[in-house]
Amino acid sequence: MADETPIEGVLRTMAVESLFPRLEPLLPAVQKPIQYVGGELNSTVKEWDSTQVRWALMYPDAYEVGLPNQGVQILYEVLNERDWILAERTYSVWPDMEKVMRDNAIPQFTVDGHRPVGAFDLLGVSFATELGYTNLLTALDLAGIPLEACERTDEHPIVLAGGHSAFNPEPIADFLDAAVLGDGEEVVLAISEVVREWKAEGSPGGRDELLFRLAVSGGVYVPKFYDVDYLPDGRIKRVAPNRSGVPSHVVKHTLMDLDKWPYPKQPLVPLAETVHERFSVEIFRGCTRGCRFCQAGMITRPVRERNISTIGEMVQNGVEASGFEEVGLLSLSSADHSEIGEVAKGLADRYEGSNVSLSLPSTRVDAFNVTLANELSRNGRRSGLTFAPEGGSERLRKVINKMVSEDDLIRTVATAYANGWRQVKLYFMCGLPTETDEDVLAIADLAQRVIATGREVSGRNDIRCTVSIGGFVPKPHTPFQWAAQESWENVDSRLSKLRSAIRSDRKYGKAIGLRYHDGQPSVVEGLLSRGDRRVGRVIRSVWADGGRFDGWSEHFSYDRWVKACEEALAGEPVDLDWYTTRERGETEVLPWDHLDAGLDREWLWEDWQDSLDEVEVEDCRWTPCFDCGVCPQMGTEIQVGPTGQKMLPIVGVSQTRQAELVAPAGSRDSG
Ligand code: SF4
Repeated sequence: MADETPIEGVLRTMAVESLFPRLEPLLPAVQKPIQYVGGELNSTVKEWDSTQVRWALMYPDAYEVGLPNQGVQILYEVLNERDWILAERTYSVWPDMEKVMRDNAIPQFTVDGHRPVGAFDLLGVSFATELGYTNLLTALDLAGIPLEACERTDEHPIVLAGGHSAFNPEPIADFLDAAVLGDGEEVVLAISEVVREWKAEGSPGGRDELLFRLAVSGGVYVPKFYDVDYLPDGRIKRVAPNRSGVPSHVVKHTLMDLDKWPYPKQPLVPLAETVHERFSVEIFRGCTRGCRFCQAGMITRPVRERNISTIGEMVQNGVEASGFEEVGLLSLSSADHSEIGEVAKGLADRYEGSNVSLSLPSTRVDAFNVTLANELSRNGRRSGLTFAPEGGSERLRKVINKMVSEDDLIRTVATAYANGWRQVKLYFMCGLPTETDEDVLAIADLAQRVIATGREVSGRNDIRCTVSIGGFVPKPHTPFQWAAQESWENVDSRLSKLRSAIRSDRKYGKAIGLRYHDGQPSVVEGLLSRGDRRVGRVIRSVWADGGRFDGWSEHFSYDRWVKACEEALAGEPVDLDWYTTRERGETEVLPWDHLDAGLDREWLWEDWQDSLDEVEVEDCRWTPCFDCGVCPQMGTEIQVGPTGQKMLPIVGVSQTRQAELVAPAGSRDSG
């Protein structure tokens, strides 16, 4: 059991003042104390009493991972632009800090105003991965907020989840008051309006009434308004609303005009070391390439491009506002922007000879990508180029709809090595549906061909290829949502055979680097990704047993999860294997069926069957619509250029004009 010095009661006796005077003397006792200090460039601390709605925004991982998170930074800025809203950030504290806080009765605090999280109206938690669920419980407990939503009173914040994992929040449904699906920019403002109005009316009906208003106002999922019934064999019988007026399906939010929302405008500059130290501009949202394993691609459809002019302005303003010397052009497949050639050339021209370096974390496998990388690296280092064939054999790439032939890949790496790149990184997955040992061993053959080609075209022997392999986890709202997850034993065995094949190769083996993790964390991720409400008991049990930071290998314990499953699911007809390695049938009610990402369920099933038949599906940006369902559902269509607009060099344009150029319509809300 974790050390649980009670925090309860502390908040009620505490004014909403900074905890920093109590915290500061304790900081020398913890690792990296600067991560708890706040005060970053472009951070905001508002007067508590001058605002009406107050958000604590949390990224449930350490500061070094959480601070660069784009989603949190965008919402922090969007909310704080309204003078009636206050938003502060909070991150997971390391176990040493947790102990110090418990020993000294210091509650979970924000890094901006060092205010107790329990005093805010809302605690918004952004989940990029399910492995942050135990960290949610730590934060709630440290904040003095009851872990179970049903035990909270009007004194406690509304705990709301967002991010990609919120597309199946069922495993943490008992710990959440609400969840939001999809893009957050507009909906956080809509939620704030509902809260402001309810508070102005004197908070009628308390917390229950507020949650009801959020549920019926559209787009906020409140788990307690839905009952889940089970069949005797453990499958779900049905999920149905238990309150009239609550929608039977909750639909995701989609921001349709990215150019009106050019955030972040004032990127946060970290004080302590973080995983990314650059300014990132999202050049488009959504992806229709149709990779069947990719949840992000499926749930963020349709494609919505940011205009080349907006991109240019955002880069310039962001660099000026932050002083970052590295700019990343982000998206799920950045080389697919319809004007990426002009974007790359425009930015490379603008920053040639300056300290600003540009990067495109694209994984598309074609020679055009090399051309772009050459352009963007004019100013900087040529460390390595990354491509993601994902599957080792051509057969497996058809199964996952990653339309890359071996010849495509070899042509692409030949272009890269011939252009002076010395290092190529290749990303793969292991444990994909229908995968055999041969599919994984094909990675070794491919890597050997890559090195042979590289040596031939460059005439050098010092070239390298790094093979990086992740464990595949079937995700909700993808065609693989019905698939059986591979056992960790099979994944580990295949990876071990692959390692032997690469290491035993005297000619090329030394030029090939191999990076992979063992398969056990993927099984837990699988449990949490496709779990239902019964999995909440497992999460709570793991947390009570000391589970923290499950995304970090040094903190992760597979045995702890296995034990918790055995104990928490005893007496149920389900277990860890049932949730992970079991294939689902077409008619089985899935825990997330009432949560709507816009994708047509029949289309997803057909795509799953196509996958098993090794049938590929094109990208609807360049071929006719194949009816995935998103556009009619959202009442829209894909938004791609080219626009023919120019990347305006706004050097010399007045500050006022620049502000006009980048201001989103309607964003100058004085409240
Ligand atoms: S509905 Fe058609 S055009 Fe829209 S994302 Fe789906 S396949 Fe593409």
